[in-house]
Amino acid sequence: MESILVLTHVDEGGSALTKASLEVVTAGMEMASRLSTSLAVGVIAADATIAAGALTSTGARLLAVSGSIFAQPRYASDAAACEALCRAANASIVLAPGSSRFARVAAGVAHRLGGVIDTHITEIGGSESVEASRWFYRQRIEAVISRDRRPWFLLLDAGTHTAFAGATGGMDVEQVAVELPAMRTTVTGLRTPIKDAQTIRPDAEMLFVAGAGWTKKQPDGQIHVDEAARLILGFLQATGASLGSSKSLVDQGGDNQQVLPFLSHLNQIGQTGATPRHAKGLSTCCHGEEPHVVGWRFIGERRAVSLDPNCGWTRGKADVVYVADAFKVMEKLNALLNAGKA
Ligand SMILES: Cc1cc2nc3c(=O)[nH]c(=O)nc-3n(C[C@H](O)[C@H](O)[C@H](O)COP(=O)(O)OP(=O)(O)OC[C@H]3O[C@@H](n4cnc5c(N)ncnc54)[C@H](O)[C@@H]3O)c2cc1C
Repeated sequence: MESILVLTHVDEGGSALTKASLEVVTAGMEMASRLSTSLAVGVIAADATIAAGALTSTGARLLAVSGSIFAQPRYASDAAACEALCRAANASIVLAPGSSRFARVAAGVAHRLGGVIDTHITEIGGSESVEASRWFYRQRIEAVISRDRRPWFLLLDAGTHTAFAGATGGMDVEQVAVELPAMRTTVTGLRTPIKDAQTIRPDAEMLFVAGAGWTKKQPDGQIHVDEAARLILGFLQATGASLGSSKSLVDQGGDNQQVLPFLSHLNQIGQTGATPRHAKGLSTCCHGEEPHVVGWRFIGERRAVSLDPNCGWTRGKADVVYVADAFKVMEKLNALLNAGKA
């Protein structure tokens, strides 16, 4: 019989579990019920007992690694903590969020335990055995993986499960002792971009895509990059949407063309870019070519604003296409959004 352990960690605030961790808790509960087996959840935090309060109603065995040394991500301490939790739970299946914190240590921990690991898991099924799905070749091929070797670590992509939410309260948490190796890394602090500069927001409801049209000559024969920047940033500020881009637009910097300064290749959506998950997507000034749209596989409702009535979006790639000037549409949209807020 499988013994399932979900590994979780807290967010930067230090007291609440990350949304991605809570999503994996849901996946663990579903798997435990499908396989009729028990579930353990391991929490890593400075004070893991506070964070574990959110898991009261899971009915899972709660294990924790606590201490100020676990407040910050660090390979040596995180790997030791995960290893100790896996050993304490005697886990055969270990589920964890594919966060930067766990992605960094999970393969090493699997190796220490003589196990195996698969990453970017989007779905877990199987009633007799465990079957994990992931996408290959830029989300074009979906594979279902099963393995005999244990422990089997599965890192889940964010946004693939509903985050667990239940009654909070106190409950028994077993503290697990960790034998720490000598620490060579000291975390002196965090340097993060100011909030508005961070345009990639994986948890946002909506993806807003800017295409190369924003920096092209407009019907008046001029380019209007400053105005484009104002409209795009205004929309992001009003909606909290995540900013994506076409490849053509982010490549322009290398071609010595005028660019939108807040865009980088990290914003690129598509075959050679990202494939984010959002409930809705709005594409503007983008042609909707296949190498771009392949990155929209996990976007729910799709809308586009393009001047070209023959663009890819109108050919079945979007649910709704507005054949219109995006400068005018976004100006009006921002005005309506801001009026609604006032
Ligand atoms: C191997 C390979 C991999 C690739 N990978 C990717 C990838 O990962 N991601 C990606 O995006 N692309 C990728 N591409 C490139 C892709 O094929 C397209 O070239 C690119 O997506 C085009 O970007 P675009 O639609 O923004 O620009 P354009 O093709 O220049 O389209 C601009 C659009 O804006 C419209 N427009 C202009 N002004 C306005 C206005 N005022 N209002 C409304 N609409 C307006 C125009 O009508 C036009 O339709 C790849 C290509 C190859 C060969």
